[in-house]
Amino acid sequence: MDKSTSATPSLFAPARRIKVLLPLPLAGAYDYGVPDGFEVSPGDFVEVPLSGRMLIGVAWDGDPDPDGVPDHKLRAIETVLPLPPLPAASRQFVDRLSAYTLAAPGSVLRMAMSSPKALEPPTVRTVYTAAEDIPNDMRWTGARRRVHAVAVDHPPLSATDLAREAGVSPGVVKSMAEAGGLAPLRLPDRQNFEAPDPTFQGPDLSAVQAEIATGLIDHVKAQSFNVTLLDGVTGSGKTEVYFEAVAAAIAIGRPVLVLLPEIALSAQWLERFEARFGIRPAEWHSDLPPGSRRRTWRAVIEGRVPVLVGARSALHLPFQDLGLIVVDEEHDGSFKQEEGVIYHARDMAVLRAQGAGCPIVLASATPSLESLTNAETGRYETAKLKERHGPANLPDVSLVDLRKDPPPRQRWISPPLQDALEETLAAGEQALLFLNRRGYAPLTLCRTCGHRIECPTCDAWLVEHRFGRRLECHHCGYVTRTPDACPECGDTDSLVACGPGVERLYEEALAILPDARIEIVTSDTLQGPLAAAAFVDRMTSGEVNLIIGTQIVAKGYHFPLLTLVGIVDADLGLAGGDLRAAERTFQLLNQVSGRAGRSGRPGRVLLQTANPGAPVLQAIASGDRDGFYAQEAEMRKNGGWPPFGKLAALIVSGENEGQVERTAGDLARAAPRADGLRVLGPAPPPLALLRGRYRRRLLLKAGKEISLQRVLSDWLSRVRPPNAVRIQVDIDPYSFM
Ligand code: ADP
Ligand code: ZN
Repeated sequence: MDKSTSATPSLFAPARRIKVLLPLPLAGAYDYGVPDGFEVSPGDFVEVPLSGRMLIGVAWDGDPDPDGVPDHKLRAIETVLPLPPLPAASRQFVDRLSAYTLAAPGSVLRMAMSSPKALEPPTVRTVYTAAEDIPNDMRWTGARRRVHAVAVDHPPLSATDLAREAGVSPGVVKSMAEAGGLAPLRLPDRQNFEAPDPTFQGPDLSAVQAEIATGLIDHVKAQSFNVTLLDGVTGSGKTEVYFEAVAAAIAIGRPVLVLLPEIALSAQWLERFEARFGIRPAEWHSDLPPGSRRRTWRAVIEGRVPVLVGARSALHLPFQDLGLIVVDEEHDGSFKQEEGVIYHARDMAVLRAQGAGCPIVLASATPSLESLTNAETGRYETAKLKERHGPANLPDVSLVDLRKDPPPRQRWISPPLQDALEETLAAGEQALLFLNRRGYAPLTLCRTCGHRIECPTCDAWLVEHRFGRRLECHHCGYVTRTPDACPECGDTDSLVACGPGVERLYEEALAILPDARIEIVTSDTLQGPLAAAAFVDRMTSGEVNLIIGTQIVAKGYHFPLLTLVGIVDADLGLAGGDLRAAERTFQLLNQVSGRAGRSGRPGRVLLQTANPGAPVLQAIASGDRDGFYAQEAEMRKNGGWPPFGKLAALIVSGENEGQVERTAGDLARAAPRADGLRVLGPAPPPLALLRGRYRRRLLLKAGKEISLQRVLSDWLSRVRPPNAVRIQVDIDPYSFM
């Protein structure tokens, strides 16, 4: 079925019209004419002219406006692309996400069309096999003999792969093919995703696990919308349990979407999936090369992907008839997209499941207060796993009071933590030192003049990365060589590093634990799935016995011999003091702690703090999670904060500070006034300058019953910012930086 058609648009005035949404930040879908002989339905990918350019958009739902553009001015659809339509559920999702976030629908559509190349017809690639009848006059060189041997042994390979395997240059392959020694085959550049085998290897579930699994399977079989909060301590078998639901969806032939934070690094998750289902799932994340993105996107829209695991952007893939969505580590902050279209992938995944009419599982050991509250009010079902599976117990957590047991000057490991590290390593076990700070030191200061080295375009200090001999801005990525002299007073040897980062901790650990085999694990060192897999191997083989890592090691990893977790600065996350600081700290510390003692050998966690009385730390130490959440909920309820009230942020930004100030002032003057509404600000956020743009923020607080979107649209319609000033809407903000 080739739907590709084209016409010369200007010769006639088309009578029929259809809406077309373009992947651009425009107010909405535009009307286009449908030339005679064209069949266009909502969802079709079409090529249309816009201001002198040809663009690909999607024929959209809704009635065109016959009184809008007169017929003779109406531009016509040029081509209908030979692709399956963007499914109705995807289109509805675009509209709903746009309505919820107040982002332009075209900007949302753009996320669904994230692989433009996938819209083009699949290309053909050439692969080679050994020729059956090699001409007698072909000259046999050593290189050609090696190519021949590889070609005989392997399935057909591309010139590049064949050359690599044979250790020759691709030119050898090409010339050998021309000489008739290799036979070229033309294959469509298309990826097949094998069907996972749902019966491959299920574990024997415990009674509680089995009961929960049965419940989830029933929801999958029923194929109706339902949200289950799978709330279980770390290591309790949440993954095993939701795998059963995945198996059920595979069995009825419905695609499954699993969202994970930091998917690129979830090497262990992929291995477990493979062990359970016999094959690897499709993947979707920012580290994927463009070719894989193109093939995967294409396979999704053609309905050929049974299970896909991805980061938040996978939510926008054009799945038809989704059978199940899983959001693992649902509380994780990385599900919130903070740039472009600002949205929370967990919340939007619930919306997506609702549109698809399928169940969704939210899994976490420390659910968000949002999800817990929804579970409490009965909007979500709850399934609880309270114990670790098998012989493993939750680790023993204790606080180290830094006021009583301080580390030596300019050091960060206290004597009790040092003792514990020595014991652990001596016992042949592994340890993790957790410090959520990349680099060597968060601040470089001049001892002579007091100057602090700052980012030229952000309100932030530059972080020293000593091993790379550079200073880096962790907000905008600005990098500069570490100077020898103070940039302010010119004094040499006067710059000092203040505070610790993982690199500095590494130096310290090396000095006090001479036998430790240490590895630093941060987003700087673990770039991509291969690096992550190699790290896992080094841990499993024992090549490494002490990890010094940031939050990147807090998630998902399962190392049987890891029995000690030392949290170097448990107070770090509480400093900013935003709405969710305590909740986030609790979740992070709990998750890091959960790396210890995961299989039989008892684990322990030491938290270094100068505030041992802080409720979060008390809750972590005593394991009183529910008490902590109850207290947190109480505080939010009293203040009318989410999830008991609604909150939105308006961020005004621009390169001209005066213009930004004035726009923020205009917004304040135009602020909505009504019962149940409160506007806070404008105020400069901590990052009042970011990437060279000045910023001001206003917050809108509203009661649960109020439609934030309506109030905001109305408010924004009353303010006309200059072109160079941007106002971003953040519904339910998580970042207050
Ligand atoms: P969670 O996702 O809650 O952290 P996992 O599913 O990762 O927990 O389980 C923790 C460990 O226990 C894993 O190694 C897993 O394979 C194992 N496990 C959990 N449940 C079972 C079971 N019923 N049978 C065998 N192993 C299990
Ligand atoms: Zn910067």
